[in-house]
Amino acid sequence: MEEFIARLLDLQDCDRDIDRLKADLKSIPEERKIHRMDTEGHEAKFNLFKESMDAIKKKQKKLATDKTDNTARIAEYKSRLLTLKSNSEYTAMLKQIANTEKMNDQIDNMILEAMYEEDEASQELDRAVKERDRAVKRSKIREESLNEKLQELEAKLADIEIKRSSIAAKVEPRQLKVYDKARSSGHREIVTGIKHCSCGGCLTKIPPQKAGEIKGGKTYVCPLCGSYVVWTSDSSF
Ligand SMILES: [Zn+2]
Repeated sequence: MEEFIARLLDLQDCDRDIDRLKADLKSIPEERKIHRMDTEGHEAKFNLFKESMDAIKKKQKKLATDKTDNTARIAEYKSRLLTLKSNSEYTAMLKQIANTEKMNDQIDNMILEAMYEEDEASQELDRAVKERDRAVKRSKIREESLNEKLQELEAKLADIEIKRSSIAAKVEPRQLKVYDKARSSGHREIVTGIKHCSCGGCLTKIPPQKAGEIKGGKTYVCPLCGSYVVWTSDSSF
């Protein structure tokens, strides 16, 4: 392999590592977002159960007040009963007392119902709290390990970028320019291996005679994609 090709290949390996590290770094905020959404989902669920629990409590309070009011009213009606003179007034008052007592019976039933509702809501709320807390904990652990990973990747990237500049310094400026230009236009394999008698970059067939020369150590420039085609460990005719 020609010297300049070996250098370009080193550079390319380096850039491949840089690409991989950058892709890994890019995945971190995305992963964070997934965890945040998971936690927010559990928080929203908790809030929903909390709201329904609050509504039940409010209803219970209202029922209790209604019952107290009715009981006071009944006591008042009963005391008024003694002062009534006519039969019709008396009968009307008795009817009113009976009605109010009936209302209180209904309220008692509603209070009982609300108690069952409260039990159920309380269980659901407990479950939501546990699930939310679990999600928060899980997210926190994951966040810590993501931060570690981030630091690790950033350190690796910094190292490899230093390594890259020292390799790039050894490449002839004109070749480096061509290489960088090809890379920035999306070409990732400027130096490629010959595979099944074809360019490893674009799969264009290479004449057998040329392939033989490549195996012998000569560099071949692919007429289609411009890659340097060389013989590598996984090359074949
Ligand atoms: Zn090619």
